[in-house]
Amino acid sequence: MKSLWNDREAKKFAQDPLTLRVYTSRLLGRDASLVMHGGGNTSVKTQVRDFFGVEQQVLYIKGSGWDLATIKPEGFAAVKTDTLLRMAAIKELTDADMVRQQRAAMLDPNAPNPSVEAILHAIIPYAYVDHSHADAVVTITNTPDGKKRIKEVFGDRVLIVPYVMPGFILARKVYEMTLGVDWAKYDGIVLLNHGLFTFADTAKESYENHIKLVTKAEQYINEQKKFSFPNKKNMSFPNVFIGNPNTSNALLTLSRLRQAVSRLQVGAVVALLKDDKRSIAFSQLPNIKTLATRGTLTPDHVIRTKPKPVVIHKNIESDVNEYAKAYKGYFDRYTDGELKCLDLAPRWAVYPGKGVIAFGRSLGEAQIISDIIDHTMQAIVRAEGMGGWKVLREKDLFDVEYWELEQAKLTKNPKPLGLQGKIALVTGSASGIGKACVERLSAQGAYVVGLDIKDGYDVTKEADLKKAVESTVRRFGGLDIIVSNAGIFPPSMGLGSMDPGAWEKSLQINLTSHQRLMKIAIPYLSHGIDPTIIIIASKNVPAPGPGAGAYSVAKAGLTQLGRVAALELGAKGIRVNMVHPNQVFDTAIWTKDVLEKRARHYGLTIEQYKTNNILHTQITSKDVADLVCAMAGPAFAKTTGAQIPIDGGNERVI
Ligand SMILES: [Zn+2]
Repeated sequence: MKSLWNDREAKKFAQDPLTLRVYTSRLLGRDASLVMHGGGNTSVKTQVRDFFGVEQQVLYIKGSGWDLATIKPEGFAAVKTDTLLRMAAIKELTDADMVRQQRAAMLDPNAPNPSVEAILHAIIPYAYVDHSHADAVVTITNTPDGKKRIKEVFGDRVLIVPYVMPGFILARKVYEMTLGVDWAKYDGIVLLNHGLFTFADTAKESYENHIKLVTKAEQYINEQKKFSFPNKKNMSFPNVFIGNPNTSNALLTLSRLRQAVSRLQVGAVVALLKDDKRSIAFSQLPNIKTLATRGTLTPDHVIRTKPKPVVIHKNIESDVNEYAKAYKGYFDRYTDGELKCLDLAPRWAVYPGKGVIAFGRSLGEAQIISDIIDHTMQAIVRAEGMGGWKVLREKDLFDVEYWELEQAKLTKNPKPLGLQGKIALVTGSASGIGKACVERLSAQGAYVVGLDIKDGYDVTKEADLKKAVESTVRRFGGLDIIVSNAGIFPPSMGLGSMDPGAWEKSLQINLTSHQRLMKIAIPYLSHGIDPTIIIIASKNVPAPGPGAGAYSVAKAGLTQLGRVAALELGAKGIRVNMVHPNQVFDTAIWTKDVLEKRARHYGLTIEQYKTNNILHTQITSKDVADLVCAMAGPAFAKTTGAQIPIDGGNERVI
């Protein structure tokens, strides 16, 4: 591992001790093998003048909820050092009291909550303290004789602290172990199964000590007998999900898995399939079922990933249900009777031979879990080369998973939106109603794939539709909502002078393409979450107009298609509903010129023409999209086969 310290860069942060602290914190944060997604913490001890001009000794400590990679000066909380030291001298302290007293000792009550390790930072008698969960150090300690190996790596130059619960218990442990000790004999502290501390009087030295110690650990790992896959000869990397004749099967399996997990989460999840070489190789390890389920790389990962993944080995639905049962059993074993059990869904899955899958209520959450899995898989494989992967006891993981101070981090997650985690496909998405649907569905938390001729997708080509559906499932793990919107409005033509080409084209795009998309999507929708098809038909269905035969007939056929689909798909739980918008004027077709002509034709002003309905209101693309969003959501959960007008009220329709 290389030091990222750069004199020129550092100069920009040299105003005061805190800005330098920001600089080296970010250096730690830049390397995901040191800290990830809010892990680790750093501090600096210094003097500041308070509001009354009195000099105060304070510890600037990383605030909870900040990430080292992007931290700013305001991400640190200034806490009076003597209060922290007095707390360290107390034998027992509840978490609630610790948090309250730390907040009471803050110079600025609006600063973020100090990190749970603030007291430990205060005990260490150096200006700068750096704490990471370095992969290399933790991996070595996550082996049967980890402590012995750490001694081989660092000799007597580090204090080795056995695993205890982070927070006050850990601070108290280090306090007791270091009473009267000569700190100069240590380069750092190794917390078994947890991480590494280094310290110094300058920011540079503390950071570079950190890098030095981690480099030593990495070198040690590299010198070990490499772990090799026992069945290396037979190992293959079947990229089952892409470019394979069985792709559809594999994607259906992925949809089923997502559906089973979503049901336990009580809400749709995104399922990120990882089928890179490393993930597939990992999933192919012969003892994968026991290996993957021993525990997390560091205890704080447990709040993201739970203690173990689900390993698919029999049948997806029963495997996921067994997982849920086992998780409930784990909760019941350790709860004090007061705690509230989290949902029973796994956060990731191992699909032997095919890869691993990360789940999240949002793409961001799934991505965080995916990153953690990457580091965990590498650590497991490395530890197997050092006598075996051996992590904390289940009870220790439970204590961190249900620790109020860790759970508090998760409550900062934004509240789920109406269509959170849903996966949607919208055709004709580049303009008008389609574009508005993409925007509104996304704003409600759905992940939306838009399909348009402008982006090279032709809905009249089955191959294009298949590719779009499959890549949507591949990207997000399933499919829940189809907004079947693509359409054209052929030029006005009487039946007697109907151009056969225009007639055919209207039927192809306005009708047949919708049936083809439906056919391809139904197998995936069958494994969707409250799956639904919303067809954008037209006011012309209940109230046709002369000259629009090619359009009206196709849209009437489309409506009939939707009605039959509602009958056929109800048993699979798929709802099919139709929307009949009247003219929506905020689209490219309705230029000022066209509007003027049409208005004149009826002897109306443009404004009168636009609002020529019972409510005298104008219908916009956004109005239609809002209706589509509502129809995709719980308000319409029990409606299928319905035709909903959105036309401001029309005498011929009513
Ligand atoms: Zn830590």
